[in-house]
Amino acid sequence: MDARAAVLEKFNEPLVIKTFPIPKLREGEVLVKIEAAGVCGSDVHMWEGRDPRIRLPMIPGHEGVGEIVEIRGEKQDVHGNRLFAGDKVLWNRSVSCGHCYFCKVKMEPSLCPQRWVYGIHTSCVDPPHLTGNYAEYLPLVPEVDLFRIEPGVDISTLVPASCSGATAAHAIDLSGVEPGDSVLVQGVGPLGIFTVAFVRSLGASQIIVIGGTEERLAMCKSFGATLLLNRHQLPEKERKRIVMDMTHGRGVDVTFEMAGEPDALKECISLVRTGGACVSAGFGEPHGTIEVDCFHDLGRKNLRLQGVWVSDTRHTHMALQLMLGHLQDFKRMITHRFPLSAANEAIRVMKTKEAVKAILLPHKSLPTSL
Ligand SMILES: [Zn+2]
Ligand SMILES: [Zn+2]
Repeated sequence: MDARAAVLEKFNEPLVIKTFPIPKLREGEVLVKIEAAGVCGSDVHMWEGRDPRIRLPMIPGHEGVGEIVEIRGEKQDVHGNRLFAGDKVLWNRSVSCGHCYFCKVKMEPSLCPQRWVYGIHTSCVDPPHLTGNYAEYLPLVPEVDLFRIEPGVDISTLVPASCSGATAAHAIDLSGVEPGDSVLVQGVGPLGIFTVAFVRSLGASQIIVIGGTEERLAMCKSFGATLLLNRHQLPEKERKRIVMDMTHGRGVDVTFEMAGEPDALKECISLVRTGGACVSAGFGEPHGTIEVDCFHDLGRKNLRLQGVWVSDTRHTHMALQLMLGHLQDFKRMITHRFPLSAANEAIRVMKTKEAVKAILLPHKSLPTSL
């Protein structure tokens, strides 16, 4: 049997639909029929050739959900549920070695030097060829962690849990946010929206969001933002005055940079209180520098400046649980759905930010209405 996949052959050129044979599974492997693949903002950067991890030709797509069609041997999900053909699953996007200093000593598998991801580190030149989620089928190696999803749940809605949701969860995990805290989020894409939803669920008292798109700001409000600041309407000085007024002149307890813009990080540092934390998860590829006043911004401020790189199974679990509790809200985050043949259009609407989140439905032949 063959499977269709969208292949990136040359940077900045349209993906090409190609057909590959579905490989025979090895012991412990699972073949999934992909029901939905997320189109991530970082897929756009990969398509543009800005991600140093990419080797062409490759099948993009690192976020996926689907149905198990075959298991070679026995396989359990992370909860210990034995899996069978017909089960719906979401897979953790990364595989770490499980044995190195980061995996075993520091228990931070997301920092494993051997960590790899389907649809990022994989080329489709050699067998098993099908190594990205922009495809009808994907064979998963035994090391991939799976979450079985209960029947009746619209699994396509859950796709963002595996990347932006998990990365936001990692940021939350490292932030030290406490109930009652005031929080500021920079960026109104999926990363920012997930962050708003997380801090609300943790009991943040004030959730201030800075963004540049009214519709996205409104979406943040529906997830729990208490104050929206449109950066096109309010100059930075004015934004600072508003934030300081709301926080007794201190600044917020925790700021989250989820925009991937150096200026956003700089503003996050200026709006956090003395002794607070500034958490930055927006930079998925090289994107500029900022100047830091070592005394005022860092030392005197006792600032905790925390970078965040990708995520691991622990964070996918956190995102999945958050989503399962707010499925209808998250359904609205997926603004565009396309068949596999329209993968280029999906990348375009993510690039232009017309879409908050686009997904591919590889087994649907026509665009699906919302
Ligand atoms: Zn490792
Ligand atoms: Zn991603």
